Amino acid sequence: MDQYRVFGNPIKQSRSPFIHQAFAKSTDQILSYQTEFVPLEDFELRIKNFIADGGKGANITVPFKERALAICDKLSERAQLAGAVNTLSFNSGEIVGDNTDGLGLVQDLLQNQVKLRGSRVLLLGAGGAAKGVILPLLAQNPSALVLANRTVSKAEFLSEQFNSEKLKVYGFDNIPHQPFDLIINATSASLSGNIPPISTQLINANTVCYDMVYGKQLTPFLAWAKQQGSLKVIDGLGMLVGQAAESFKIWRDVMPETTTVLQSLRIKLEKD
Ligand code: NDP
Repeated sequence: MDQYRVFGNPIKQSRSPFIHQAFAKSTDQILSYQTEFVPLEDFELRIKNFIADGGKGANITVPFKERALAICDKLSERAQLAGAVNTLSFNSGEIVGDNTDGLGLVQDLLQNQVKLRGSRVLLLGAGGAAKGVILPLLAQNPSALVLANRTVSKAEFLSEQFNSEKLKVYGFDNIPHQPFDLIINATSASLSGNIPPISTQLINANTVCYDMVYGKQLTPFLAWAKQQGSLKVIDGLGMLVGQAAESFKIWRDVMPETTTVLQSLRIKLEKD
């Protein structure tokens, strides 16, 4: 049976085996997908061992996405620009790296009927997650993509990698006061109960607010956005399923349907 794994540290919380097994069932594919906890010093060795054991592909999660990039023989443009890899394929002796996080986000936004073409988009954060979504967001042709981060120099450095006039960089406190069509929180602030300190004037009822973090309840950012009057708030569970679907397609050459899996995952999350 074809073997796939997700490598990370920590990894117990991973929902990827549930998602990929559901995809395999719905597309009649026979495969196994498991988690592997990797001690920090062992990443490269564990991947080598998995390939030697006949592994077909792998997902890579925190904190190994940058190290995964370094072991690839070939990289997609997305992965190269993101500087991070979340999907490895092992093809006739070669390691091929891709990054499907951005595609997962865009797929989820479109599935939620969020208009991207011609929209003013604010992306908060300049870490691995933000890096991975810039190119797929620009590919949707927004009118502007504003990047803001706590450490402004990181956002500036990041924007220099992308040759786009649409990309502008600010600190949280000097973003021009005009409501956005879409605000994406790609910071990890919600994980510690915090909210990026942006002006309330950036949100009105028509501003869609998206948090890459997800959970049982609304994240702090989404709860705040709702208080400011945003009528549409979306968490990152759909992005998680979307990026998994894109990895599955790379490995199996078939795009799985995501809605049913997302619904069951939401129910599972609420029960846990
Ligand atoms: P990184 O650690 O690479 O980056 C963290 C980012 O958050 C940086 O921009 C950092 O700013 C900012 N930040 C952290 N704490 C705060 C705070 N209190 N206030 C304001 N900004 C803050 O993380 P990733 O980019 O890899 O991940 C970001 C989030 O996205 C994570 O919570 C992760 O769970 C989620 N994610 C979700 C995915 C999904 O499929 N739903 C996929 C990938 C990620 P600074 O540069 O100043 O330190």
